[in-house]
Order: sequence, then structure tokens, then C-alpha cells
Amino acid sequence: MKTVTRSTCCYCGVGCGVLVETEHGRITGIAGDPDHPANFGRLCTKGRTLPLTASSTTGRALRPEMRVTRDEPRQATDWASALDHVADRLAAIIERDGPDAVALYISGQLLTEDYYVFNKLAKGLIRTNNIDTNSRLCMSSAVTAYKKALGADGPPTCYEDLELAQTVLFAGSNMPYAHPVLFRRLEDAKAKNPDIKWIVVDPRRTDAAALADLHLAIEPGTDVALFNGMLHHLIWEGALDRAFIAAHTADFDAVKALVRDYPPHVAAKICGIDERDLMQAADWFAASPATLSLYCMGLNQSSHGTDKNLALINLHLATAQIGKPGAGPFSLTGQPNAMGGREVGGMATMLAAHREIGNAEHRAEIEALWGVSALSDRPGLPAVEMFDAMASGKIKAIWIACTNPVHSMPDIARVRQALAKAEFVVVQEAFAQTDTVPYADVLLPAASWGEKAGTVTNSERRISRVRAAVEPPGEARPDWWIANEVALKLEQRFRRAAQDSATTRTLFPFASPQDVFDEHRLLTIGRDLDIGALSYATLEQQGPTQWPMPAGAHEGTARRYTDGTFATADGRARFLATPYLPVAEPTDARYPFHLLTGRLRDQWHGMSRTGRADALFAHTPEATLVMRPGDATRRGLEEGQLVTVTSRRGKLVLPLQTSDDVAPGTVFAAMHWSGQYLSSGGINEATIGAVDPYSAQPELKHAAVRIEQADLP
Ligand code: SF4
Repeated sequence: MKTVTRSTCCYCGVGCGVLVETEHGRITGIAGDPDHPANFGRLCTKGRTLPLTASSTTGRALRPEMRVTRDEPRQATDWASALDHVADRLAAIIERDGPDAVALYISGQLLTEDYYVFNKLAKGLIRTNNIDTNSRLCMSSAVTAYKKALGADGPPTCYEDLELAQTVLFAGSNMPYAHPVLFRRLEDAKAKNPDIKWIVVDPRRTDAAALADLHLAIEPGTDVALFNGMLHHLIWEGALDRAFIAAHTADFDAVKALVRDYPPHVAAKICGIDERDLMQAADWFAASPATLSLYCMGLNQSSHGTDKNLALINLHLATAQIGKPGAGPFSLTGQPNAMGGREVGGMATMLAAHREIGNAEHRAEIEALWGVSALSDRPGLPAVEMFDAMASGKIKAIWIACTNPVHSMPDIARVRQALAKAEFVVVQEAFAQTDTVPYADVLLPAASWGEKAGTVTNSERRISRVRAAVEPPGEARPDWWIANEVALKLEQRFRRAAQDSATTRTLFPFASPQDVFDEHRLLTIGRDLDIGALSYATLEQQGPTQWPMPAGAHEGTARRYTDGTFATADGRARFLATPYLPVAEPTDARYPFHLLTGRLRDQWHGMSRTGRADALFAHTPEATLVMRPGDATRRGLEEGQLVTVTSRRGKLVLPLQTSDDVAPGTVFAAMHWSGQYLSSGGINEATIGAVDPYSAQPELKHAAVRIEQADLP
């Protein structure tokens, strides 16, 4: 008999609702959930093909595996032995070298409940803040900018604004590929009202740029100069909302003084665009009744990602394009639960419910709520620094869950070196053959989408249920359960070492994801993301809901700051002066090309899942390096020929594809193909580990490279 389970798509931050059809314990079909407010029944190709990639034992990690010494292969074992071994090794390293010798590297693919248990395990039990996530590579610059400018993390906007905006600025976001269902909503709105203006800021002519009213094909990394130039123009034209600035913001004068240095002709020259286009974009931005900025990795994955976000938010504050329907800065989360991970504080730089590690009051609140003492006030190591600390021998053990850093981190050679140097590596994975699995001393088989339950939060702060439709294959277990079991065993070992036989209460009393959610909910009370009124029962009754929803509220919150009161101490948003700084690695005579990286429409991350469906290779069958035809001709290169892409850190070989979509002096490669598919490795062989000074997000989007004919044997 067929059954249907209501759940949420596991790919991008749109967070589409899905109806999963199962028969005889297998996922047999999928449909968009017509009642889910993110997608109203629509799905993109990735969502539609979920049944082709789910619920199979092929390629899955099915049993725990472990090895005792590095020079032996891992052997299949049982859960009890694997969990004991993990707890024993971690406890021994912590006792010998201290808690900060251990690190956890987790994932925006995890559910909120998984994230919560991992975070409590690291910060509440081990007492290290060395827990970071691949969301560091995704959204951390947006987070830092929201906190600096608006006083709290999280977008002020909602998806309904896609239909209400009269001007839409896309900055570093190829929505047709990265957030397809949201892009369809924008297309529908524009079809109904052709006067809606689309401005696309992107060095490449992406699908979004091709459809735009104005494409600003800026030089890579010059976004801050563009936004400063637009603000200069608006100040000159007297097009600001002076009343809003006076009533609801602070520090405008510092920004006004800074942008004096960016008159349109100067800013346009830095950006390599026509100054008239810059001024046109500024005029549309300010004059529109509602301007919405949609931005993603093009701003965030940069060594100046926070400044890029802030310079754009400055424009919204100066023109009062915030806190009203259809308007505001709207960062689009890449991963399905990058937002939920932040809510539970599952990163090296934060505590639960948007609290700060460096804030003694915040630590005391979490200590009281968890019933622990002396949470660490030492900042944890964010992703790039974490692997660097492992390479230098400071971190001895790492537990990696639901992510593949040997593919996704910048400068992969450095990551391989770090993992080879680590004393003990645990990999918790649903798939048996990622690039990271060979480094595992212990492999813990994890349940995947369709097999586990919990919640995720999408780009508009909407919390949706994820439900299990089938049993996990083999001995795979849900991620929260695995973390909880190790936590219980570690807790026993710590008590034994402290000769504490009196304490019987556990920090990990969770018997289900619902238990975990209930504790998470309590920690949010009184905070900006308060979900005191939200429970699994509420989600069941009223469906996916946006935070905040404090006790007494009957529904979630669509938009924030609608009364002009921001989440800062004095209620005023902050203008932040952002001077333009160039990319971390400028091109030069030896490395003359700007390498840009990005996503394809039908693939997801390292293709662990999407690589299992042939249908998803129809759009783009193979990895390529995209180059301007004139650049190729000048170098004697031809379409389809194999070329070597070389940076100061590494190289890889790709077939050449020529296209006018990239600018002269610029090449593009997709992020998806890894060493699993390409013997020469993926594009992150070439990228750079330079990070933003505020968010620690690496500049995955840009590196300087040279391109040569491949020297084949
Ligand atoms: Fe899934 Fe994103 Fe596609 Fe929606 S838009 S179906 S969430 S991949």
C-alpha cells in the first residue's frame, strides 16, 4: 500500500515542502507540497529527482567501520564497539592535551536537532568551542553583517516580498540555478508586471543576468566599490530618506564621508562598468516603492564578504528600503539548514540562540539552562583555521559529520595534509565513498534524507518538519542519535576520571528529535529568535512557521523591524563605513586569469547524492573550464581540449568550453566535481584559504590562475 509523508527537500535553502510517496519500504515518488508556503507545490529538477537518489543501499555506508592503527584497513564492526572506541580515543586525547585538542566539523545539511546535540556535546560536555560547520563556507559573512548593522542575525524579509518588490537587485546570486523555485516566483511577478526592474550584479552573464533589465558585469570582487558609488550618487542627487536615517539609524556621517571617495566615475572605473549604468541602478534602487536585494555566495565567499554585505545594507538604510513589504536586504541561504545551525549556536563563534561566546552574561545563561559550569570563553577555531591547527599539530582529533571537506574546503592540499597529520579522525557519513572517508579511523554510517526526522529553517526563517518516510539502510542511524550515544559514553568516562559516582543526571536525556527540539525551544525564550510558542505539535497544526514566535503569539513573524526599531541596544541600525579592498589574490603575469567558481542548475555540492541520478547530468554532462573565445584563440586553445588550471596552491585538468558568458581575462569552473570524478581533483585544488577578517569565511569564489594546454602522457 502506498503511503505519503509530508517533509522538506534536503537540498537548498529555499526549503520546499514535499510529499514523499513510499511503497514496500521504498521511496517511489515525490510531489511538491501545495500547502507549503515556500513552493506551493513546485519543485526544481533536484527536488523532483529525489526518489532516484534516495533509499538505496548502493554506495551507502551501511555498517560502522574502524581501525586501531593507521596502517591497517578499516574493518566492519558493531555500533557498541565503534561508539566505545570513539569515546575512548576522544577522552584520552582530551585528558592528555586538553579539550581544545578536539574539533568537530559538521554541516548545514544536518537537521536542527542533530546540530543541537553536537553543539551541546562540544560546548557543554567537552568544553571546547572548536565546533564549526560548512556553513562557515556559506553564510557567515551575511551573519556578521546582519549582526553589525541590524543588531541580530537573520533576514528581515520573507518570500512574499519576492512578489511585492518593484525593483530586485541580485548581487552574487544566480537564482535560476541556486534557488530555482524562488526564481520562478520572481518570474511570475515580472510576467504580471513588466515594469518591475531587475538589476543583476555579477561578473558572469548568468541565466539571471541574461534576463535582467540591467546587468552590471563588474570586475571580480569590486562589489563594495559599486555599492559605495551608488550611495555617493544618491547623496549627490538628494535621493535619500533623511527622516528614516535620522529616526532609525546611527553613524551615517562616517559612511557619507567615506563614499565621497567613490563618485560614480571612480567607482565605475574600479568595477569596469559604464558609470551611467551605475547611476541607473542607484536611481532604480532609491526611487522604487519597494527594493529587494537578493544575495548569496558572490558576496559571502570573499575575503571582504562582510564589507560587501554591509555596503549593500547601507544602501537599504539610506533609502529606507527595509522593514516594509517587498523591501530589504535578503541573504539567501545556500544549504537547507544553514539557518537552523546558527539558531542552536553550532559554530565556533557563537552560543545557542544567537548568544555570544565572549559575553559572560550569555555564557552564564547557557550554563544555567544546561546545568553546567565554566563554559569555555576561548573562541573556537572556524573552519579554515581549524584545519590549519590540525596541520600544525594543535588539534589532534576531529569528528566530521555530514560534510566532505576534502572536496569543499579551499586549498584542498592543505586539508589533506591536516587530516593525514591528525591522530584520530571520525567520519559520520551516509555515503561510503566521499573524498573524506579514506581518512577516517572510524566511519559511522548515518541515516540520510527520507530516513530521519527533525526540523530545518529555510532562508525566510521558516521552520519546517522533516519526517522519516523509510527506515535507514543497513545499520545507518540518525545523526542526532549517533552524537547522543557518543556524548553519553564520554560523559561516563569523564565521571569515571573525576571519580564522580554521585552525579546521575545526564546532559543528554534525549530519546527523540522532539525531546531535542523542546530543549532548543527553551533556550530561545527572550532572545530575538524566540520560539517559545512553537513545538512539534504547533508545527503539526499550523504547518511551517517563521521565527520569532514567542509565547502568546499565534503565528510566526513574516517581517522584522517593521516599526523601524532594530535589534541593537538603542534600537537604531548602524551604517558601517566599508572601504573597497581588492580580491585576496590579484592576477599578475604568472597567474593572469581570474578564476570564478559557482554552481550548476542540476547538481548539489560534491554530488554525493545528485551524482547518483543520470537524469541530472543532462543539463551539464561534465566538468569544464569556461573561457572567453578570444582568450582561448590568443592562447592557441580549442573547445573541448584538455587544459591545466594552475594556481599557487595546486592544479587540475579540465576540458575547455568557450563562451561569451565570461568576461575577457576571466574563467569559470563549477564547484561540484571532485577527486571522486576527476583524477586531477576538483576546483578547490586551486582556490585560496584567505578569509574575511570578521566572518572567517574563505574566498572560495576567486583565485588567480594560469591556463595552459594539458601536458598529457
Ligand atoms: Fe529542493 Fe531547493 Fe529545488 Fe526547492 S528549489 S526543490 S528546496 S533544491
